Amino acid sequence: MSGRIYFDHSATTPLDPRVLEDMLPFLADSFGNASSQHAEGRKAREAVETARAQVATLLNADANEIIFTGSGTEADNLALIGAVRAGVGPAHVITSPIEHAAILKTCEHLEESGVKITHLPVDSEGLVDSLDLEAALRPETRIVSVMAASNLVGTIQPIAELAEITTEHGALFHTDAVQAGGKIPIDVKRTPLDLVSLSAHKLHGPKGIGALFVRRGVELAPIVFGGGQERSLRSATENVAAIAGFGVAAEIARKEMEAEATRLRNLREKIVGVLADTVPQAYVIGHPQKRLPGHLSLGFAGQEALAGRLVQLLDRAGVAVSAGSACNAHHADKPSHVLLTMGYDSERARGLVRITLGRFNTEAEVDRFLEILPRLVADLNPDMDWTTSPQLAGPVLVSTSA
Ligand code: PLP
Repeated sequence: MSGRIYFDHSATTPLDPRVLEDMLPFLADSFGNASSQHAEGRKAREAVETARAQVATLLNADANEIIFTGSGTEADNLALIGAVRAGVGPAHVITSPIEHAAILKTCEHLEESGVKITHLPVDSEGLVDSLDLEAALRPETRIVSVMAASNLVGTIQPIAELAEITTEHGALFHTDAVQAGGKIPIDVKRTPLDLVSLSAHKLHGPKGIGALFVRRGVELAPIVFGGGQERSLRSATENVAAIAGFGVAAEIARKEMEAEATRLRNLREKIVGVLADTVPQAYVIGHPQKRLPGHLSLGFAGQEALAGRLVQLLDRAGVAVSAGSACNAHHADKPSHVLLTMGYDSERARGLVRITLGRFNTEAEVDRFLEILPRLVADLNPDMDWTTSPQLAGPVLVSTSA
């Protein structure tokens, strides 16, 4: 795939070669079961515990507050179902309508068993308002779950504020930090987060391994039953290679976070700056500044219905971006539920092109992309006169720099 430009890091990221190097021994000679007492088993256990400490440090948590799961999806399921099942009496869960399916579908499942669910409104930039959370909290609210940052529009939520309100009320606060983890600082000692979901493949680690931070003292019921691994919260023989890879990926992300965030923001800002001149109908979707560093969601006024086509043409030209999130790829022709809840009409809610930059992207790639994209957009419907397009009344490109 050399020569291609990969700008779809919200879907998944390439494995960092440093991570691969750390994983390889556990896919070959160091094959022990981390529960075995012999030397092979002890070596595997040591790798798991090293990784647990590395993942914990990313969140400023203690190592024994990290539970490894099979994915970010499973961490989300364990947080919500585990919190509800650990309690007694009627349960109420508060979440946002722009969450990943791992939260929304889990809430649907809980609702079928009698749990009341409230979806907080979001504004046109995808932000949850703390006043709405205050109004929604009830005596029986068991858990509030709001994502740290959106996979689709990149908006970063005011998690600290929402967590404080929730904690004062006496409910648990969970955040799905699958997109935010390793990209923006998350500190569980400074912020009263009870549960935090992470996934290694979003931070240049392997697929099929996630983690749930569970604050000491928080009661969860398991959703997987078996041999009692991971403090009986996630039974299954540990995937040692993936866990070791997650640990190193978390450590690299933590050490490089600040410099990398600045680099990615600058690259993103370059894209926005150039497109403002070359593609005047482009507009930013999501919050212009409160967004993940490498994340840019764009709409093209008047061409929203052609977003899927544009993504295909970019692919043919050697650039991987996405129209919506990878999880919704099977429903690409449908308006995005996230954009609909942000107040977009059904036409514009179909028109998102997501460009998400990552560790190995270079300025040369951005420059090449900026040569390709305007040509492809112009070719989509060449007869259109942008200056008279009624859709131009919508938002235009604004700076995404802080
Ligand atoms: N939560 C969010 C916000 C995501 O973006 C994703 C994956 O795209 C998930 C959860 C699911 O994580 P995983 O792919 O590890 O199951």
